[in-house]
Parts: sequence; C-alpha cells; structure tokens
Amino acid sequence: MPLLFKCMLKVINTLIAVTASISNSTVLPSATLPQSMAVLSGFWGLPHKNLVKRLEGAKVGAWIDSMRASSPNRAKSESQEKRSWILYHPSALNTFEQITYNSKGKQIVVFLDYDGTLSPIVTDPDKAFMSRKMRATLKGIARHFPTAIVTGRCRDKVYNFVKLAELYYAGSHGMDIKGPTKSRSGKQGNNKGVLFQPASQFLAMIDEVYKILLERTKSVPGAKVENNKFCLSVHFRCVDEKSWASLADKVRLVLNEYPQLKLTQGRKVLEIRPTIKWDKGKALEFLLQSLGYENSNDVFPIYIGDDRTDEDAFKVLRSRGQGIGILVSRVAKETDASYTLQDPSEVEQFLGRLVEWKRSSSVKCIEL
Ligand SMILES: [Mg+2]
Repeated sequence: MPLLFKCMLKVINTLIAVTASISNSTVLPSATLPQSMAVLSGFWGLPHKNLVKRLEGAKVGAWIDSMRASSPNRAKSESQEKRSWILYHPSALNTFEQITYNSKGKQIVVFLDYDGTLSPIVTDPDKAFMSRKMRATLKGIARHFPTAIVTGRCRDKVYNFVKLAELYYAGSHGMDIKGPTKSRSGKQGNNKGVLFQPASQFLAMIDEVYKILLERTKSVPGAKVENNKFCLSVHFRCVDEKSWASLADKVRLVLNEYPQLKLTQGRKVLEIRPTIKWDKGKALEFLLQSLGYENSNDVFPIYIGDDRTDEDAFKVLRSRGQGIGILVSRVAKETDASYTLQDPSEVEQFLGRLVEWKRSSSVKCIEL
C-alpha cells in the first residue's frame, strides 16, 4: 500500500479518534498525540510494520529499490507525501513545549545514534566528524541528563569522534557497552569500565568474515568494509548505483557460508552481525536497567536516530509506553518513532533547547 495512502488513512482515523477524545476530556496532552495516533491506527486495523528485516536473497532487490527511493533527488517529487507524513510524525522542534510538558517529574535519559544523527553522512565513514557546536551542546546535555551514544560503529572509533568521557557508549549495535569514565559533573575516577559484551564468542568469526569480505569486494569501486569489532559494515556510500545489486549479492554469498551471522539493512550500508537476539532496542533496555529505571515510571527516555537499526529502539519505547522516539529524516519513511527532525543541525537545535529548558527550570526551582 503506498505510504501516502496509509498516512492519509492514519490521519483520518486519528481525527475521528481525537475528536471523540476531546469531547470526553478538557485537555489532551499534545506530546502524547503521535503515540495516541499510533495506538489508534493499530485499533483501526493499520498495525506498524517491523522495518528491520533479515536480508535474504529475494529481499536484496527491495532494499536496493528503497535505497534509491530515499535518495535526495527523488525525494523532491515527494513533497505531497511528506506533508501527509509530517502530520503523523511532527517536528520535535515545533512540539518542544509539549514534549517537555510530558516529561515533567520524570528523569530524562538521552540516547543518540551517531552517523546521520550527531554527524552528517559523509562519503568517507572515517571522516564522519561531529561539529564543534554539536560537541559543546552534547557536553551540556551530558551535564544535565544521563546520556548514551548507541551506534553500529566500533565503540572505540565512535569515542574518538565524540571524545566525551561522561557518556555511556554502546558500540556494535549495543553489543559492546561501556559506562562513563568521568562523572557528569566532570570529575575523574568514576571508571565503570565495560558493562556488557554479549557477543564475545563471535569475535574470531567476525574477524575471519571481515578478511573474506575485503577480498571479495575489492573489485567493486568505492565499496568499503568496516570492522566494528562485534559486527561488520559494508558501505555503499561511494559505490555507483549500477553496482549496488552486484555488491549486495557478493556480501550475501559470503554470508550464506556463515549461518551464525545475519545480514541487516542500514542507510546505504549492509550490516553483518551475530544471530544473537541483541539490537539497539535491547541495548536501550539494558542501559535503562543499569541506570536503575528497569521498572520505573519516573523515567522519560528520548531516543534520536536516523537508521533502520534505530527502529528496534523506537519499538521498545512504544511497547514500554515511555518517552519518545525521534527519527532524523528529510524524507517520508515508515517508522515507529513519534517525532521527526530533518538533519543533524536540527538535532543540535533540539538538544540545545533541552539544555536551556533544564537550566531555566532548575533556576525556577531554586527561586521558589
Ligand atoms: Mg545513523
């Protein structure tokens, strides 16, 4: 079913339900609206789809098609579709007051993807640097809220990009989690070290497949294989569109020999991971548990990410009925996130406003 048609149905259903809701209550907390919409659309027979799928032979073509469809040039002709989509997934900047209203009395915990969220997507993944402004804002965020970077990248590599010791880092899609080595107030000596590595037994296999993939993909100009320690990434960013299908096929053929590893799709990237049931959603749950919020209603997690792999975390937040997921995207996509931001500069603005809001509400408390 075309995305535009589905969005229109969701909006119509939501308008009916919201009208009924307003007639029964004086105030509908606006920040909950997108989540309410999702619940209602499910009630009216429009369930959300799981976007993170195991990539198998027949799905290679579909993945290539979706990657082409989301390229910026094609997106220009989809403005009407986007307008409908934005109704269902409003901007987190435009709804900022509603979001903070809903978090009142709860501990905000911030979870952030790295590539495409804190840094722009660049052609060379080794040069995905974060801006100075973003680092300063992130430092402010970490001062006020427990904060974690949740990424498909190797933990050490993403730490070298971010360079803030007061954060939690969940690398390799959450399979390599380390706590802060500095307290949020900036004091040294709170070295929590490695918290969790559920896929240690796969290290040798991942390394073996890395070497094979390097060899088998070297004939494809622009193809880049990245070793993320507990998982691998095959980047398509610099590969000519004509070679996408053959590169995906080469990767799939290697993986056929390793049933203990699985292939998943990302944004211009194929990821190879152990088949263990562990993803960014599980990492989010683990980190909340580590922070003491496993069974708490007093926590408000905010997860911001741009990738299909972030959908696992958005889904966890929906099922917990806590906090919000924010998808970073310029184009309409199916997502379990409730809100959207267009790009890393909007992410920086949103995080900056969060810091300002926290500062001003702390000052008000002191004055009272
Ligand atoms: Mg990303």
